[in-house]
Amino acid sequence: MTVPPPLEDWPARWRALIRDVPDFPEAGILFRDITPLLWDPRALRAANDALAEAARAVDATVVAGIEARGFLFGVPVAERLGVPFVPLRKAGKLPGGRASVSYALEYGTAQLEVHRDPAIAGQRVLIVDDVLATGGTAEASVRLLRQLDAEAAGCAFLIELIDLGGRGRLDVPVASLVTY
Ligand code: AMP
Repeated sequence: MTVPPPLEDWPARWRALIRDVPDFPEAGILFRDITPLLWDPRALRAANDALAEAARAVDATVVAGIEARGFLFGVPVAERLGVPFVPLRKAGKLPGGRASVSYALEYGTAQLEVHRDPAIAGQRVLIVDDVLATGGTAEASVRLLRQLDAEAAGCAFLIELIDLGGRGRLDVPVASLVTY
């Protein structure tokens, strides 16, 4: 008896739906554009299902998404798990009392902020973003959540750029769906 092939090779399908854009937003950067994947509802659903599996694997009780593309995946993952979603936003966007963290970019620094909701203390938070590159943004997100006494349960990404070594900067479990 022959075993039927899987209905869909999702990693290959996702990869085919990620567009490489050389020299964007600046010379030397190979930008991984996820908008073609957003155009394909089945592939998007499968990606969010897979990210939700990663969240279940670390028993996440809250999902945090990193502005802005982390929201595209973080909210559906939180919905699938039936847990709260928390936006980690760029500086100056959140209206309430907030905690903030600074981190180094290639040139200069950036900030991420989160509302100081006391209910997040002790929660197991999964951090979601589209791309893990150098890991600076995700590492800052872990620090930000720890300021609020939340537990960083793990990080999940659609894409991981292996050569940039971001995983090595994170002291939590890391999951990614497509690697380059
Ligand atoms: P990093 O802090 O270096 O891990 O960068 C992560 C952030 O920058 C993520 O929010 C990504 O959306 C974005 N990013 C970094 N490199 C790329 C890339 N090559 N293509 C698309 N987005 C990227």
